[in-house]
Amino acid sequence: MANKVNNKKASDDQFNRAADLIGLDEKIRLSLNVPDRELMVEVPLRKDDGSLESYKGYRVQHNNSRGPFKGGIRYHHEVDLDEVRSLAALMTWKTALVDIPYGGGKGGISVDPSKLSNLELERLSRRFFRAINPIIGVNRDIPAPDVNTNPQIMAWFMDEYGMINGHTPGIVTGKPIELGGSLGRNEATGRGTAIIARETAKLLNMNLDGAKIVIQGFGNVGSFAGNFLNEMGSKIIAVSDVNGGLFDPEGLDIPSLLKHNAENRTIKGFSQGKAVSNDEILNIDCDFLIPAALGGVIHKMNVDKLNCKVIIEAANGPVTPPADDILFKKGIHVIPDILTNAGGVTVSYFEWVQNLQQFQWSEEEVNTKLEDKMVAAFNEVSTMMKSKNTSMRMAAFAVAIDRVAKSFQLRGV
Ligand code: NAD
Repeated sequence: MANKVNNKKASDDQFNRAADLIGLDEKIRLSLNVPDRELMVEVPLRKDDGSLESYKGYRVQHNNSRGPFKGGIRYHHEVDLDEVRSLAALMTWKTALVDIPYGGGKGGISVDPSKLSNLELERLSRRFFRAINPIIGVNRDIPAPDVNTNPQIMAWFMDEYGMINGHTPGIVTGKPIELGGSLGRNEATGRGTAIIARETAKLLNMNLDGAKIVIQGFGNVGSFAGNFLNEMGSKIIAVSDVNGGLFDPEGLDIPSLLKHNAENRTIKGFSQGKAVSNDEILNIDCDFLIPAALGGVIHKMNVDKLNCKVIIEAANGPVTPPADDILFKKGIHVIPDILTNAGGVTVSYFEWVQNLQQFQWSEEEVNTKLEDKMVAAFNEVSTMMKSKNTSMRMAAFAVAIDRVAKSFQLRGV
């Protein structure tokens, strides 16, 4: 389904256009657009049957002008250096945009984890963390979950790091609550997405109450976004997962669908809604289309068939740059990934702060602080959009690049 767009060329293009917009100095531009450090490691794995496999692992540290490198670790067979580079750069802009004291990094292993047993996954994760240990640290580089990594894997990372360096819960975020994870972290990206949809509706004078919403991808981000938007009064008329989609123009019963999804780990088999494919779901007439699965799903071959008023990018890179240009010309607003899905890294930051304080905040406190951060970032982006007469994406990059450039200059070289 997806065109791979999480590549450096696409992120370079966005960076350069926003840098032009704010008139960024040429020399600073060159420094900010290249990663500070790239580590490639070989990760050998003894399989349960005694055989030996080996995988490529990566950690790219893009920029730390504003604070330690921060970003997830992805396990996927398509992971390569180019993708990790591009995602690391996106993290620099995302953390700057929500104004948290981090830089950007990303990591990954080129592996299909569904082919590994749980014990193999644990051995692989520990070996990888040992391999990147020399360049990470609680004030240096703080990994987190991403596609196909989860709180259990973060717990193994923390344990492995602790055996080498001493107990350091703040070395990773997205941990289980019992090991210092933050309340509200699991829901944070979906909650942030719903907040951004709500603010977008206000900005565009649309009514969120009763608004028709389509969500592609019903995993962590898509399902929580659906839940919160449903609570806000919107009508979720279609959702999909890897097995296909469901459509009901009257609105799906989201609490029952969430229960079905939790029990079956898929929306397939739910009693309500007409079956639609993952391509068809994008063309449904709606107010808000929320891609919350993979990158590159909206591209120049299908962009003309969309029937939405606004796209809220919950996934990373769901709209390709050529499709983005077409949408801008058509007046369809695209709320960019670095703003929409920044709730996850924001609550990761709150988790790290709690770990450093050795103190746990209430869920209410976490959610209130998340709300403040998301709304402040949204307002800064919309002000920039109006003042530069540009897209929300360019405005978001402009706000973020400007912040990183200022810190970079103040530090001196
Ligand atoms: P997830 O694995 O929990 O869920 C992914 C969902 O997408 C699942 O419902 C899956 O069935 C569906 N899916 C997979 N392939 C699909 C396909 N071909 N067509 C339609 N649906 C498909 O992942 P997630 O954590 O919800 O992440 C989703 C996106 O959000 C990713 O792009 C990720 O990088 C981004 N993101 C996640 C977080 C976070 O905190 N989880 C933060 C920032 C960005």
